[in-house]
Amino acid sequence: MELSGAGVSPGIAVGEALLLERESITVFRLLLPPDQVETEVQRLMRAVEESRQQLQRIKLRLANEVGSLHAYIFDAQLLMLDDPLLLDRSVAVIREEHVNAAWALRTVSEQLHALFDEFGDAYLKERSTDLDDVMGRIHLNLIGAADAPSLSRLPRPQVLVAGEITPSEAADLDWERVLAVVTDGGSGTSHTAILARSRGVPAVVGLREATKRIPAGALVVVDGTRGVVIVEPSQPALDGYRAQQEQARVEEVRLQETRGLPAVTRDGVRLCLRANAEFAEEAAIALLYGAEGIGLFRSEYLLGRTRAFPSEARQVEVYSSLLEAVRPHPVTIRTWDVGREDLAPGGPSSPNPALGERALRLLERDPEPFLTQLRALLRAAVQGEIRILFPFIAGPGDLRLAKQLVEQARASLRREGLAFVEHVPLGLTLEIPSAALSADLLAPDVDFFSVGTNDLVQYLLAVDRADPRVAAHYEVLHPAVLRTIRHAVEAAATHRRPLSVCGEMAADPLHALLLVGLGVRELSMSPAAIPRVKAVLRASSVEAAREAAVIAMRLPNAAAIQEHLRRVLGHALPEPVPANS
Ligand code: PEP
Ligand code: MG
Repeated sequence: MELSGAGVSPGIAVGEALLLERESITVFRLLLPPDQVETEVQRLMRAVEESRQQLQRIKLRLANEVGSLHAYIFDAQLLMLDDPLLLDRSVAVIREEHVNAAWALRTVSEQLHALFDEFGDAYLKERSTDLDDVMGRIHLNLIGAADAPSLSRLPRPQVLVAGEITPSEAADLDWERVLAVVTDGGSGTSHTAILARSRGVPAVVGLREATKRIPAGALVVVDGTRGVVIVEPSQPALDGYRAQQEQARVEEVRLQETRGLPAVTRDGVRLCLRANAEFAEEAAIALLYGAEGIGLFRSEYLLGRTRAFPSEARQVEVYSSLLEAVRPHPVTIRTWDVGREDLAPGGPSSPNPALGERALRLLERDPEPFLTQLRALLRAAVQGEIRILFPFIAGPGDLRLAKQLVEQARASLRREGLAFVEHVPLGLTLEIPSAALSADLLAPDVDFFSVGTNDLVQYLLAVDRADPRVAAHYEVLHPAVLRTIRHAVEAAATHRRPLSVCGEMAADPLHALLLVGLGVRELSMSPAAIPRVKAVLRASSVEAAREAAVIAMRLPNAAAIQEHLRRVLGHALPEPVPANS
């Protein structure tokens, strides 16, 4: 039986399934005599305080083990403990209804879940898990079980199968003995996925029915790269996976050896490979994979659960921590790339969000979030090499607006006498075809370009990048895409402006080679893709890539281009993995 989900941490694992089952706690509603009400309030306060101390201990341990950047995961729960919505309301329920603390907690928890569900939003769903986790902890402390049940000592290496794994469970896990993680729910940005990636443990999430369909103790194969889980595989399939696993292990060792090596081609051309990141804690992972800095930080992931923009001080803190983590390499931070629908889920939205009011087009409604962000970026620049990247620019008019805004931010910082850097490199994303095709007009007024192929392909080919029904039409190698990129590369070269490619195209080794052949010298990609791309670039020459690109530009369609690239450059790719059948 094969189950499909989303592979959020690559690699293959084979092992016995450990089914994480939860007992739901029965809570009784007990009516208290009036003179016991305050004692019950005190009991709740004590349980909350104990919970706080436990969470702080977990946070500290996590900070020591995997670095402080991960420990932030528990800040959300620690904040919940202080949130009046939780504690004050629970106390109010005890006092008003004269009920036991456990019942009051349950009542408030249900109200908060209803509130989270109302927004139907992925971020708040994640916070629901935090809420359950924190409530479960307080409850256990209330009923006298001093420590929450723990998975911190597994008897032997196993594959963890669960509905969801709460952040504190994930932090508490005996990761040395966790072969892989498999969950019904979750997403690539869930805490479990982040931790699994940083531990190098394969993970597949979003399987919906894994806990129902995988019997405890069953032998499973977890392929975190393809996002599949095979339950009780046949012997030949198992042999195939074990061979793949061994091959991956050997390759990983080989790739890790190249971590400190420069991305230099056989004919001596130095290329630069950087990482795309969504969260500050990914900076450490990026370095682990040999990234020379962050080529794209998608800052909008900093928007909190209320979808509110973070304060200037908070942003200075995050941007500075990124700079500190990757110093002496630079960090390119993209300004808010959001649409109205991202700011208020379920609220007003453009009829076609991908073509509507997003990024700087929101300026007219409210320039404040953009000004605040630019002020934070200019202030953080004191700490290291920061570059500001404007997304979703359609042409010179948008660029003028962006630069005026930067000037406004500078002027306000000057007025306030705050420390900041006057001249931070300003760049723009070439992702709207009109901008890419007027790169020659834009170049004199920017310091660098970053080609966002994810959107460039969608807008050039009129294919919604998020719609699986038209996925076959999403052709990264379409001749129009290559022509547009070539134009941008030439314009950048003429004006001596650095240009990088930060879309997914850069993460595909063969496509990366083609980009190099077209004249691109800097690529930014998800951290885990870097070692493989580097190995392929080191095994090739720019000359061969250039010749391949010249011919590719004359071919009539994506399929012919792909076939040509494979034929002339494919020798640099790693040996194909043997089929598992
Ligand atoms: C892109 O559009 O290629 C890009 C890198 O940005 P995003 O995927 O965040 O739109
Ligand atoms: Mg984009």
